[in-house]
This record gives sequence, C-alpha cells and structure tokens, in this order.
Amino acid sequence: MATVLTERRLARESVPRFELDSWRDWGLRAGITGREGDFDLGLFAHGPAGRVLSNWLLFDRSHQPEFRAIAVASQVHRSTVREHNGSAAGWLVGDAIDGHLTGEPGLLLTITVADCIPVYLAHPKSATVALLHAGWRGIADGILETGLQRLSQSCGCVMGDIIMHCGVGICGSCYEVGPEVIAQVTGAAVAHAGKLDLRAALADRAARAGLREITVSSWCSSHDGELFFSHRRSRGHDGRMLAYLGRPGPSM
Ligand SMILES: [Zn+2]
Repeated sequence: MATVLTERRLARESVPRFELDSWRDWGLRAGITGREGDFDLGLFAHGPAGRVLSNWLLFDRSHQPEFRAIAVASQVHRSTVREHNGSAAGWLVGDAIDGHLTGEPGLLLTITVADCIPVYLAHPKSATVALLHAGWRGIADGILETGLQRLSQSCGCVMGDIIMHCGVGICGSCYEVGPEVIAQVTGAAVAHAGKLDLRAALADRAARAGLREITVSSWCSSHDGELFFSHRRSRGHDGRMLAYLGRPGPSM
C-alpha cells in the first residue's frame, strides 16, 4: 500500500515551490512549483507568453549552477517516454513526449501539470530517474508501465528497487468522471459516473508491477486551490505548474 508523503513548501524563494525532503536525502531534487504570484509555466497552454517565459527564466536561474540543462516537451496524454543521454546544456525541447528519463547528473526533467499527476520514479543506487505526466488518458495508454520498464532497462535494476512518488494533482474526492474513464484506468466495470482517485490507481498499478516503495502526496491541485493551478476547477482557464526531478551535477 502507498503511504502519504507530503511536499514541503519552501519559504523565501524567488520561485514558489514544494519539494520532497526525503528525496533530497538520496541526492535528488524532486518538487513542483506553486501558483503564488500567478507563477504560470504553461509554455504550451494559453498564458501570456512574455510572463510565462520570464517565469521559466526565473525557474532556470533558481536551479543554477546545479543543473546545466532542462528537459521540457509538449505533452499529449499518451505514453511516449524519452531518454536523455550525453552532456547536454540549455533547454532540451521535445514534442509529444509525456515522460522523461535520465541517468545524467545536471539534467533536470520537467513536465507541466494542473490536475494530472506527476509521477516521480527513481533508482536511488544509480541515481537514474524518470518523470511522467499521468492523467487518465496517459494511465490508460500505459505511461506508468512504459516508464517503469524503460527505467529498469536503463539502469539494469529490478522493479522492487525502484521508488515512486505520485505528486500534486487532483484528489479522488474532487475528480468525478464517467464509467468509461473508470473502466480504462482501473479495469473495474461500473454502470455510473463516479469519483476516481488517479494516485490510488497509479499506486495499484505500480504495486502490481512489483514496486515496494510507493508514496502519494496529500496536496490536491483542486481543493488546495490557493496554492496550485487546477484545470478542472478553473474550467480550463488556469496556468500550469512545473514538476521537476533530477540529480544535481558538478558546477561548470
Ligand atoms: Zn481535492
């Protein structure tokens, strides 16, 4: 069963953000930005481009000099996972990619979210990490299983050595969906619309795949609305947070 692990809100930062202290103990940075100051990072959404780019520059600067490169892509709610190798620098921009994977220090993986679940995966011994964008469509398309398989192949580990955290996203109480969505995500045949807990569904799938260490955030992007953006609560008008994961590299 998954246990609760809550991202800590960092104080006095130029970028509003929340991080997992226990992942920092493994030498990793795992976190997500917040909405304070309307800190929209939705490059591929509808926010004012000038402000969004300024926010990205602030975000980039706040990770210097530990991260020389940031991976970002437009996301399409499918299950494509891209592995990043070699010592890249700058912003690695991709198209139609919902998951990123790397064993490179100094490369920060990012995905944008506003209700979908950011899934953080790591093999702490080799510091190989993956970050997945998991809404119901991506989960149904197998993004978690693809990410786990690619990560275990990349570092040559067994599933039981991978740790997983399901981060800030919409909670089960706030997310009502039709029976066809519940069926595709959980495999359960139901007759009516109902509540769907995406993090619980991801935790179930991960446990079936063989993971033993699974945690879930207690934050909800919808009912903790003063701290986070929510696509559903705002009826599509909100900005995007940026979830991030990586191992700091040597400064250049
Ligand atoms: Zn909620």
